Amino acid sequence: MVMVYCELTRYTQLLRKVVMSDILEQINILIDVQGVEMEILRVDRRINALNGETDSLDKELADREARVTSDRQVLDDLKKAYRELDLESKEYVESITKSNEKLRAVKTNKEYQSILKEIEDIIKKKSEIEDRMLELLEEIDSTESTVKEKETELHAFIESCCEKKEMFVANGKSQQKAVTLLIEKKKQIASKADAKTIAILEDVKKKVRGTAVVPVQGAICTGCHLNIPAQLYNELQRLDELRFCPHCHRIIYWQETK
Ligand SMILES: [Zn+2]
Repeated sequence: MVMVYCELTRYTQLLRKVVMSDILEQINILIDVQGVEMEILRVDRRINALNGETDSLDKELADREARVTSDRQVLDDLKKAYRELDLESKEYVESITKSNEKLRAVKTNKEYQSILKEIEDIIKKKSEIEDRMLELLEEIDSTESTVKEKETELHAFIESCCEKKEMFVANGKSQQKAVTLLIEKKKQIASKADAKTIAILEDVKKKVRGTAVVPVQGAICTGCHLNIPAQLYNELQRLDELRFCPHCHRIIYWQETK
């Protein structure tokens, strides 16, 4: 009878050891899976940052192009205004020629004086137009040099954009490759765990933010920083089953405080 009892005790102890090592192994696998998932998140963030930088470059390029287009439009408008004034001025020249012809054919002094006045008015208007044309020429010159300057800047920016974007694309590709490798690594690690344990992890992940498997140190859940009940803390050290924080519902495991 005593022998049977001894055998049973030995068997229970053995079984407990097996269970302990099994649960410990499962928890370690979950921690590894979680570690790889966090690494995937970090790489994803880098990929998103690269995409963000590419988007800002595109936006800045579009803004700069729009500014140069608008400056070119200003220049075109100035040139158009100059051409219109030039035509007007030529029309006045013709009018003066015609009035001078009329002047030669006048009969009376009154008529003569009236045509002289007419010519004088036209010359005045023509002179005003020529002044405006001179002003426009100056504006055209300065706008032309501004446009050229901005075009040069734009070309330099486009070149630097292309170089940066090529770098971003290459970097993005290598990050994407890293994600693929990490996903494969996660699959391999997860395949070592019980399907049920992985299902539990997935379920907990849906309920919590951040890490789903956390250590309990000195009876404090490191996920939510709240105390766990003494009985649960004792049970946790048995390492016989997966246990959960009663506050944040994360999977918890006992970790010796150093
Ligand atoms: Zn907690």
